[in-house]
Amino acid sequence: MTRKPFLAGNWKMNLDRRSGVALAQALAARSVTWTGRDVAVFPPFVYLAEIARSLAGSSIAVGAQNVSDEKSGAFTGEVSAAMLKDVGATLVLCGHSERRHLYGEDDRLVNRKLHAALGAGLDVILCVGETAEERQSGSTEPRIGRQLTLGLAGVSEDDLERVTLAYEPVWAIGTGNNATPAQVGDVHSYIRGMLAGIYSDMASKAVRIQYGGSVKADNIKALMGVANVDGALVGGASLQSEAFLGIVEGAL
Ligand code: PEP
Repeated sequence: MTRKPFLAGNWKMNLDRRSGVALAQALAARSVTWTGRDVAVFPPFVYLAEIARSLAGSSIAVGAQNVSDEKSGAFTGEVSAAMLKDVGATLVLCGHSERRHLYGEDDRLVNRKLHAALGAGLDVILCVGETAEERQSGSTEPRIGRQLTLGLAGVSEDDLERVTLAYEPVWAIGTGNNATPAQVGDVHSYIRGMLAGIYSDMASKAVRIQYGGSVKADNIKALMGVANVDGALVGGASLQSEAFLGIVEGAL
């Protein structure tokens, strides 16, 4: 089964309106030459509508970095999946390590957010990954297994088609420390095997698994050469057009 590479840029709480639009326009201009890959950017909530307008007509999708698990109502400061869809988002990140570790989101909340997004017609990138301590103590697989089982609870095999997995070792995010190709290969094949156990071999083989953690233009080729790596979720290097273009264009 061939899986289309998927490169995504998570802008986090960076860039202002002007620089975000300039970046989107630079990507859109180059995207006319791209084939055989999916590309998405995840701007801050407040710029979603404007970035979606800047990318309209291009093949680049716009996603949100977070979503409420609730549909509507008295939830001050929250943004619903339907609102995200309304302003042009087609995707949402669930379970990013910063949400888990800085904002205390546990697997059950991540799962409710994922269902809220799927229920509103948004696709999801579900992020999983172990901390340095978990890796050192040999609990990488149990940790990721739990994040997958609880994160995907209640997701049907049909809906799994709208979910991408992102393996992001916490110790590799924003640190410049990549996981080695061997470490990435081991975890990606573990994830693929887990998905086959929860769903079916066929469903598992259709799911794209991105790697995230200090991906740059100069390491994307080696990472994409690892079995079961189907793209990348990029933080820091997605904030600058040349750096992100190097990743998108170097991926295949
Ligand atoms: C991320 O936050 O998802 C990420 C992978 O960040 P960075 O590329 O900066 O390590």
